[in-house]
Order: sequence, then C-alpha cells, then structure tokens
Amino acid sequence: MKVLVADDDLGSRLVAKAAVEQSGHECIVAADGTSAWELYRQHRPEVVVTDLMMPGIDGLDLCRSIRDAEDYAYTYLVLVTSKDSHADVIAGMEAGADDYVTKPLDPFTLHTRLLVAKRVTSLHSDLARYREALAEQARTDPLTKLYNRLKLAEDLEQLHQRSARYETDYCLAICDVDNFKSYNDIYGHQAGDAALQAVAASLAGGGRKSDGIYRFGGEEFLLLLPGQRLTGAETRLLRALESIRALNIAHSGNPSGTLTVCAGISAYVPGHRVSSERLLKEADMALYAAKNSGRNRVEIAPEVRHVIRS
Ligand code: GH3
Ligand code: MG
Ligand code: MG
Repeated sequence: MKVLVADDDLGSRLVAKAAVEQSGHECIVAADGTSAWELYRQHRPEVVVTDLMMPGIDGLDLCRSIRDAEDYAYTYLVLVTSKDSHADVIAGMEAGADDYVTKPLDPFTLHTRLLVAKRVTSLHSDLARYREALAEQARTDPLTKLYNRLKLAEDLEQLHQRSARYETDYCLAICDVDNFKSYNDIYGHQAGDAALQAVAASLAGGGRKSDGIYRFGGEEFLLLLPGQRLTGAETRLLRALESIRALNIAHSGNPSGTLTVCAGISAYVPGHRVSSERLLKEADMALYAAKNSGRNRVEIAPEVRHVIRS
C-alpha cells in the first residue's frame, strides 16, 4: 500500500515512516496539513496517518477534505492524537477517520492498524470492481452483447445535450429485421437467436469508433451516429444493410431468400430545437415507411429533408 504520513513533529514523522516501511509499505511524508493535502491529491495513497494538530490545514480538515474528494477508492484514515484528547478523537471520527493511535507513536500499534487498513481498503476495491461490473452488466444485452435501452437512454440524453450546446449534428437510425417472425417459425427460435447475434455483430463491425449500437427491442437495433450529417448516415446505413445481406443467411420466408433488414433515419440539425423523443419517433415512422415500401431498404424521415431544405 501507499501510506501518507502527515505530522509537523519531525520525531513522530520519522518513527511513523520507519514503522510503515518495516510493515512493507511505501511511505510518503508531509510536514504540515497543506502539503499533506497536495500529496494526497497527487498520489492518492490507500492510507493516511495524520497528526491532529498541524499548522495550516489540521488533521480534522484533512480528513474532511479527503472524504469529500474520494470517488470509488476508499482511503483508510488513521488519526494520531495526544493521550488526553478524547473529544478530539470523537471529532476526528466524525470528520471521517477510521481509527486512531495515541502519541508517542508505537511502531507495533501502527503496524496492527495497517493490517486492518489493508483488509478494509481491499474490500472497498473489490466492491468498486463489482459495482463497475454490475453497472456494465445492467447496460448490456446478454444475447447480442450490444448495449441495451438503459445505456441508450443515457447516451442519447448526453449526445442530445452536447449537440444542442455545441451546435453539432448527429443522426439516429432504427434497424429492424425483415419478416423475422417467419424466420423463427421456419428455422426455430435458436436459429433466430443466432441470426440476431450475426446481425448485431455486423452492425457493430462497421462505421466509426464513436458510433453507438444498441439492441432496441426484440429484432430492432438502434444506431447513434455522433457528428454525422444525413448523407453520411445514409451511406453508413446502406453499407450496413449490404453487409447484413452479404451474411447470406437463408430466409425462405423473405422475398429475397436471405435475411435482410430495414432502417429509418432521423437527424439532429443544429438550430432546430426538436427533442430526442421526437427524433426517435421520426426514425420509427421512417422505418415503418421502409417496411411499407417493400422492406430491405433505408428511409429518411421526411421532417429531416424538410429541415435541411428550409
Ligand atoms: P417486419 O418485417 O414487419 O419487421 O416483420 P417481423 O416478422 O420481423 O416483425 P414482428 O414484430 O411481427 O416479429 C418480430 C419477431 O421477432 C417476433 C419475435 O418472436 C421475434 N423475436 C424478438 N426477440 C427475439 C429473440 O430474442 N430471439 C428470437 N429468436 N426471436 C425474437
Ligand atoms: Mg420489430
Ligand atoms: Mg421485423
């Protein structure tokens, strides 16, 4: 572990440093609260052993500042106090300290506190890892491994706000597999799942790194194309449709004999204050138009053409 020792008394500082290093940890030292705070921000140590009374920022302020600045990583805070300062110890614990030791500092006592610190900080880092994995899992579709609707809602909100603020374009497209119900009926649900996985992989394989690909519903996928204008998005979707056709997945219930998809595109054009919900609706209506005009095609929302022309 990385341990920061903050004490304005040179003797205590040296004893603490020796104890920390003898316990097999790396030690950083600070002679006052202000430099302790600087070193904390720079090195993010797992443990801080701080004197209570120091010039500038004292031990209590240091504990409070550290607790405020923490994100996911937990810092184990040990307060070093004089023997008769019970009220100060309480105040220290309330300010965020986990433990305290009394002066004069005993190396053995500090060693035992560091054993606890190790256990507590590693539990916290396990927890942070689980939390991150869980958050990722909650945003991932298990079948296709694409992002799901929860992630879409978050990303779309963010993209929309950013595009409105910086007056940049983005496009949104909904893709839907053609006659997929009959695919399941003919080839079975398992083959249907495999086809959805192949379509998902194909959609994810093309385009820009910044494109967002999401499973929107059963056999529907949504593409968020940041910074894309309509013509770029149309090219991107035409290519996507072509690569899905090129997968050559036999589908005898589809007029072309292979699996195809349709897409509806809408675009955010700077200066036109439409909501992201409206864009979703427009893309969905364009998709519906693509289905009605024979499937296996890309349609652009008429509202977008109108805005671009005006
Ligand atoms: P259209 O060309 O108009 O889109 O017709 P469609 O048959 O594709 O549309 P419809 O909405 O009638 O049917 C969608 C089908 O997708 C029905 C449903 O069983 C299937 N589906 C949805 N999710 C899954 C899935 O996870 N796995 C499989 N195998 N099938 C799915
Ligand atoms: Mg559908
Ligand atoms: Mg469909």
